[in-house]
Amino acid sequence: MKKICFTPFGVLKWARGYALPTEWLNACAMIERVLSCLGFPSQRQRSTIRWGERTREPTSESRRGDTSFKAFAVAFCVLILPLTSSAQLTIHTNFPGGAVELRKIDQANQSITFAPANFKNRGWACWWHFRLTGIDTNQPIELNLQSKSSFGRPARAMFSHDGKTWKHTQPGKDSGSNVRYEHNPTRDTIHFAWGPPFQLSDAHELTSRIATANVGAEKFELCKSNEGRSVPALRWHPKTKGKRPGIWIEARQHAWESGSSWVCRGLLEWLASEETDAIRLRNQARIVVVPIMDADNAERGAGGKNQIPHDHNRDWSDKPIYAEVAAAQKLIGQMNADGEFNLFLDLHNPGPRDSIPFFFASPRTHLNPLRERNQNHFHKLCLETLGKEPFDFSKTLRISGPGYHPLWRAISKNWVAENTAKHAVALTLETSWNTIHSTQEGYLNYGRALGRAITRHLLD
Ligand SMILES: [Zn+2]
Repeated sequence: MKKICFTPFGVLKWARGYALPTEWLNACAMIERVLSCLGFPSQRQRSTIRWGERTREPTSESRRGDTSFKAFAVAFCVLILPLTSSAQLTIHTNFPGGAVELRKIDQANQSITFAPANFKNRGWACWWHFRLTGIDTNQPIELNLQSKSSFGRPARAMFSHDGKTWKHTQPGKDSGSNVRYEHNPTRDTIHFAWGPPFQLSDAHELTSRIATANVGAEKFELCKSNEGRSVPALRWHPKTKGKRPGIWIEARQHAWESGSSWVCRGLLEWLASEETDAIRLRNQARIVVVPIMDADNAERGAGGKNQIPHDHNRDWSDKPIYAEVAAAQKLIGQMNADGEFNLFLDLHNPGPRDSIPFFFASPRTHLNPLRERNQNHFHKLCLETLGKEPFDFSKTLRISGPGYHPLWRAISKNWVAENTAKHAVALTLETSWNTIHSTQEGYLNYGRALGRAITRHLLD
């Protein structure tokens, strides 16, 4: 005969025919203790008495006892469980970009131990974002992050009460592969994340908002991602006499680098602003901006970088496997064929110890004298604009050529340099993510400063 293990957990599983969510387990354990205090068999007693298991012929009295106990426990679980579970510290990731590997919850000490989510073949495990509920605001929360990769261990975690406005926690204590953050909560529900999240819904909202702001922009679908998601982009096609300078800006070829999408948003909001240089640029230049390139991994909450067989920024070949890259190559090719292509910028976040933002440039094989002169001109202007921001900006151009990666030719800016007009500049901007300035506001301001450099480079 089928056994029924008569814990409250077992009762609910039996009564409802499916396994409970893991976050109810702690609540069940508590109810079990309550039942035990009320005189029902303890865990140890149940190891010898299995409810529903007939080890001897039951008397009618014991059957009535069984039935009344079952009825009581079912009622207790169904009525009380929702109330008690709401007071338990519970972790949630059931939203776009939500991802974490939960290793332990210590309810008494309000402490959780976790690691970045690791999705097989979806790139580095460095992104994490979760919502904690049931927080006791009378005691600190301890977040123990276990990540061998320093890319997953920010000096400060980020927290948010509404999932929209994000702030840094105090610096954590890093012991090599673990970091412990302590946070004094003022709410019973708080989001925690590696950095400020920026999801596909944010990209849609941003592009729609600017497209309806009467600043000459049009929202369009770059493509459907490999998994069928709509990838939004924005373009300006002003009517001018003669050729227009052409600009392509994209972010987030590596899904975990959410800061790059915030820089992109700062640039777009600046372009839509009333600042004179912004109006000049949008009235004269042909511009395309894509806030998220690896849409699928950004939504999954996967790292994306070095995913199998390769990531988006190693896919710029004659046979791209990602829909976003194929669409970008096609549109850049059209702009170039129209004689309207001047600047390509690929926005990223760098390594954890790169505290000053910098450009990755193409190797000398991909530079002709004209491109190099234009590149130096743009770099100089960036030093004058980005260099005034709290982040600062590096005087040194780093090179990603043959010694950098076996697929270096298929890095986007190298492909662009190889496949567009001689005068076009193609660079990767790496904005630091592990500094006190690496906040929403810091990134947005950096994007605005980038816009000013672009106007001066192309129009002055
Ligand atoms: Zn990157």
